[in-house]
Amino acid sequence: METIAERLKSALLSLQQSAVDAHRAPNSVQLLAVSKTKPVSDIVLAYEAGQRKFGENYVQEGVEKVQQLQDFKDIEWHFIGPLQSNKTRLVAEHFDWVQSIDRVKIARRLSEQRSPFKPLNVLIQVNINDEDSKSGVAPTEIAALAADIDALPNLILRGLMTIPAAAQSEQQLQQSFAHMHQAFTDLKASYPQVDTLSMGMSGDMEQAIKAGSTMVRLGTALFGPRARP
Ligand SMILES: *Cc1c(COP(=O)(O)O)cnc(C)c1O
Repeated sequence: METIAERLKSALLSLQQSAVDAHRAPNSVQLLAVSKTKPVSDIVLAYEAGQRKFGENYVQEGVEKVQQLQDFKDIEWHFIGPLQSNKTRLVAEHFDWVQSIDRVKIARRLSEQRSPFKPLNVLIQVNINDEDSKSGVAPTEIAALAADIDALPNLILRGLMTIPAAAQSEQQLQQSFAHMHQAFTDLKASYPQVDTLSMGMSGDMEQAIKAGSTMVRLGTALFGPRARP
């Protein structure tokens, strides 16, 4: 069985190769290691192999890991899961990024609860395939939510995140990714600090990079299969 360090190394190689294949700079795509449900010891192994950005989906679990690893000062923690308003304070106080903003109410609370000395980086989650089961705003709602977020003092709008529908043909997936890239380009035109398009996971990283992703979120490819989703 491969070690986490080996999996990380080959994930970075294929990420860079996908970028080069798409005529993009090899360092133009960031890797977020999604460590949900995995033990802190796995995060430490990835850290020792050079990984610094980690993503967590569940508030309680994520905060516990942030606290246990507080001596690892250069870890950048991303919250990527659904967020209820009664949990925003914990996220505002412990994470560096929130990728799953889809309501102004959540954004307002995060801004109120965040220290003004260290603004929180946020992405708007887009429900690109209009799935009932998924969080995220419709593409037509991005501009209004972006304007609301931009007016909040302690948040910095950095871009967009999406989780495309699982049951799509290759061609449909490409269309979804292309649609996201267009929305990202439009957003950048209004907000110069926007630089992050978070799309692509273990199963579709290559297509996402081809379509212009700047951050892929890999769980299974680094840490192996999970018991829970
Ligand atoms: C779990 C999860 C991932 C990682 O998925 P893998 O298929 O294991 O790479 C990425 N993004 C989000 C939002 C997730 O919840």
